Amino acid sequence: MQRTDLPERLEEWTGRTIACFGAHPDDDLHAAGTLARLRRAGNDVHLVMYTNDDKGSRDRSMTGKRLAKIRRAEQEAAAACIDIPKGNLHWLGHRDGELEYVDKRQLVEQVTSMIRRLSPHAIFSFDPGARFEQFHKSDHRAAAFVTVDAVRAAPWHLYFPELLDEGLEPWQVPSCFFFDSHEPNYWVDISATIDAKIEAFCSHVSQFGRRVDAYEPTLHPDDRTGFERAIRAYTATVGKPHGFAHAEAFRRAGDP
Ligand SMILES: [Zn+2]
Repeated sequence: MQRTDLPERLEEWTGRTIACFGAHPDDDLHAAGTLARLRRAGNDVHLVMYTNDDKGSRDRSMTGKRLAKIRRAEQEAAAACIDIPKGNLHWLGHRDGELEYVDKRQLVEQVTSMIRRLSPHAIFSFDPGARFEQFHKSDHRAAAFVTVDAVRAAPWHLYFPELLDEGLEPWQVPSCFFFDSHEPNYWVDISATIDAKIEAFCSHVSQFGRRVDAYEPTLHPDDRTGFERAIRAYTATVGKPHGFAHAEAFRRAGDP
């Protein structure tokens, strides 16, 4: 049975389930401070990754297979920084940069199945746009639209009826929080979890800075200093108009 007695403010939730859908391991960094807060408040938080991220390296000695393995380990380390256990990470297994070429119906069914299985009280994902379509990196664009398509399909039993045979009952996601949005309407104070967000970011060694060109398993110290400064400055800018030292911004929608 669905619980509808959700406090208005996400920050007051406890004992709920939250699922964050990212195209790649690292996309959830947009919401890492908020997800860390939700964990500290006693919620169950899941991360769903559409792709294995097997392309984003300029290191000519890197292979796609090795990169996917590195990215998985980095994501597990990053998730641990915000207290999300490895068992709450779900890999849909598609190839980096090719999400738009995956059969759309199969993909929406796969995500609908995940939503019904997890029964989240809120989902996080890229913002597909409220009044106009947002333009993203192709996987981000695909993840944004597929996620909302699956949120729409999940409560209707006639969508993907084979899911009922697997015991996956309809599920209405009560609240959606979209990150990387041009139309934010909801700000979360992450002042208490900014350090965890920075640690999570720095776990993605192969994604940023010098290690993209020449992979090594630890961040270059100068890169680390620069990343930390940039994250603190950005989240401070987002938080300032709302009276927060550091914040993350979302577009909240009840029905996307
Ligand atoms: Zn991404």
